[in-house]
Amino acid sequence: AKYDQYFLMKPEDVIEYVKDQLDVFGPDADLECKEIGDGNLNYVFRVWDRKSSASVIVKQSGDTARISDEFKVSIDRNRIEAEALMLEDRLAPGLVPKVYKYDPVMNCTVMDDLSDHQIMRGALIKHEKFPLFADHITTFMVNTLLLTSDVVMDHKEKKDLARRFGSPDLCEITEDLVYTEPFNDYKGRNIVFPPNKEWVEREIYGDQELLLEVSKLKFDFMTRGQALIHGDLHTGSIFVRPDSTKVIDPEFAYYGPMGYDTGNVVANLFFAWANADATIADPAERADYIQWLEKTIVDVVDLFKAKFVKAWDEHATEVLARTPGFREWYLDTVLDDTAAVTGLELSRRILGIAKVKDITSIADEALRLRAERICLTAAKEYIKKRTQFRTGADFVAAFRRAM
Ligand code: ADP
Ligand code: MG
Ligand code: MG
Ligand code: MG
Repeated sequence: AKYDQYFLMKPEDVIEYVKDQLDVFGPDADLECKEIGDGNLNYVFRVWDRKSSASVIVKQSGDTARISDEFKVSIDRNRIEAEALMLEDRLAPGLVPKVYKYDPVMNCTVMDDLSDHQIMRGALIKHEKFPLFADHITTFMVNTLLLTSDVVMDHKEKKDLARRFGSPDLCEITEDLVYTEPFNDYKGRNIVFPPNKEWVEREIYGDQELLLEVSKLKFDFMTRGQALIHGDLHTGSIFVRPDSTKVIDPEFAYYGPMGYDTGNVVANLFFAWANADATIADPAERADYIQWLEKTIVDVVDLFKAKFVKAWDEHATEVLARTPGFREWYLDTVLDDTAAVTGLELSRRILGIAKVKDITSIADEALRLRAERICLTAAKEYIKKRTQFRTGADFVAAFRRAM
């Protein structure tokens, strides 16, 4: 039969596939399909019934990245994504799309269509506010991170679970693109905004103290399997509505440091901050939006801490978890990593090959230069002084100092 052997599907194939393999649509459904992917790696198809308006998403992986066949990436990442989504749905109900089917032959996953939400990066660039976001995302992170760690999980079960995640190809992408190349462009792939070149050579590539700290952080990422992290939790992996938040795209899921996820969220809110600073002309409107972003950053850090402590006290099973001072020490290490990864993500999106629209869409050259400098100056402080960030206000203050 047609779907017994893997091939990269076209929209016509996907229509046939869902008719054949799913019972979501009735026999006389009038299906239409469109490829809507805009990410770097995979193909995303939306299939809908013209009659009932029912719809699903089919996400399929190919054996090279969608943006460039320079990246060979194992198609097993689709299994990782499907399993991560199902686990996250149990740990953090309502905060991820439902998975209807994972197909290990076609390497595709069928899931909820979230077209009634918006990708958060685009919404933030339009300067929209999401008052419940900080509450939702901190529940997502505390539940998926702490509840998959040795603090809560049986240590043997955790080791079994850890073996199911961590695509070596995708880990290598993170090791290179996040931890190495922004600071040591050994593959010559960085793309530096020309007006910023000299400054970057001096302040980033020339900073040996920064490189030493980044080297330590890279080895920490590779060797400290603390919790099942999402691994790609930027604002392009989050769908939002005023009343709802859904996290997608966990194909990078991997046992690594918890701060990798929290730091990604914080850094990407700062990209929105830099975008607002550069692009909102009216001073009162600009101040108002930046104030909302700052409150959101403060809430992400402080609500994460509060929920983490509460979940620890409720769910910890590790015999030493109640040793006086241990929980505080552990949470401090997560905050160190949050600060460090905030700095890494701010750096890599400006210097590396995978850019963010928040920055690249700033049309005015001088304003873009200013935005990049603020992000990179703050990034250095988050990385080098990572043990000094203990509250949400500490994170915001460092970004303001960099202005
Ligand atoms: P990639 O792994 O290639 O980055 P993503 O999972 O991020 O792929 O999806 C790429 C795009 O496809 C998203 O930015 C979004 O526009 C769309 N998309 C992905 N999943 C869904 C979904 N469940 N519902 C609606 N649109 C989706
Ligand atoms: Mg994506
Ligand atoms: Mg995307
Ligand atoms: Mg992806």
